[in-house]
Amino acid sequence: MKNKFKKISIFTMLLFISTGIYGNEISQNKGEVKSMENQVQKKLSETLSIKQKSIIPIAAHTATGDIQKLEFALNKGLDSGLTINEIKEIFVHSYAYAGFPRALNGINTFMSVLDKRTKQGIKDVVGKEATAVPVNFDSNSYGHKTRNYLVGRDMSNPTGGYQVFVPTIDKFLVEHLFGDIFYRDTLNYQEHQLVTISILSAMKGTEPQLRSHLGVSMNVGLSKEQLEEFVEVLKVEVSKESAYRALENLNNLLGIKSPLKQNEDIEVIKNKGNVKASKNNFTGDVTVESMFATDSSSNYQGGTVNFEAGARTAWHTHPLGQTLIVISGHGLVQAEGKAIQEISVGDVVWIPANTKHWHGASLDSPMSHVAISSPENNSTVTWGEQVSDKQYNAK
Ligand code: MN
Repeated sequence: MKNKFKKISIFTMLLFISTGIYGNEISQNKGEVKSMENQVQKKLSETLSIKQKSIIPIAAHTATGDIQKLEFALNKGLDSGLTINEIKEIFVHSYAYAGFPRALNGINTFMSVLDKRTKQGIKDVVGKEATAVPVNFDSNSYGHKTRNYLVGRDMSNPTGGYQVFVPTIDKFLVEHLFGDIFYRDTLNYQEHQLVTISILSAMKGTEPQLRSHLGVSMNVGLSKEQLEEFVEVLKVEVSKESAYRALENLNNLLGIKSPLKQNEDIEVIKNKGNVKASKNNFTGDVTVESMFATDSSSNYQGGTVNFEAGARTAWHTHPLGQTLIVISGHGLVQAEGKAIQEISVGDVVWIPANTKHWHGASLDSPMSHVAISSPENNSTVTWGEQVSDKQYNAK
């Protein structure tokens, strides 16, 4: 960690020094044209190109397997100037980070996108092929060289960690990923890194790798500003979660303290009191309060339901199941064809998807529960007939 931080400071210093040199050249009016060209390129490279930006959602949606969004991203990528071979290379690179199933599904999606575009008369550019691998290519030595260069330190002789514990996987990593795959030059190192950090931001649980690859991204010349743009593209075109994950790790790498989800405000939904539940779907006195719904990313909703003694729901099902947390009193729950079960304060009930059931208070006590479920096609429940007194008293 400390090493990495030091490395970035040195890198930043080098940037400053080189900018200084260009500045001098201009002020001395020597070799202006060449120098100006360099300056313009430096300026340009402070932002991601449209083409670079379009790599991000393609890689991210490939990793999460969101085929619909991937289709959109692929069309946009082709329209932004990515060649067919460059996009193929994104998939080749992505399998090392997201696995063959996601990469192959992505490739199949790409084939159908190209097919549709051809039928629409769109002629996409094939682009250059990767340089052929030399005969007697030594993927091990090339892989070690590449990894050491990217990471910025010599990792060839590990003394501990996973490399020593499972040397086979390190051999595969070096020879295949950093050797075979990185030898391919259809994408340059910066573009390779954009693929990698997009995938690692889109997936959960790969934060250590994400942080280290954000470091590699800076080592190969992506600036802090470009990585901030990368976060912005994730936010708009992939998901808020992936953007937060990337921003958190970027800030961590840069030594910037940032509160989690800094762009989000805590929302307090005031208790608006009880609302009577519809007689169509309940028997007896039932009220509902504290209704809530999360945003589409978490996608669950619910509220608190209060049943007076003897009150209950009608028979019903939930498309994706339901969780009940009893917060007061005693109650009953029953799945069709099964025995009635008693529930009381503190109990948690899981209702499986599409299981016909009812829940309510017991005959001698009111009962309140929090009910949480996820919607499918904007619906969390399908209502059926009322629970008759005979059914209710069958216990
Ligand atoms: Mn229910």
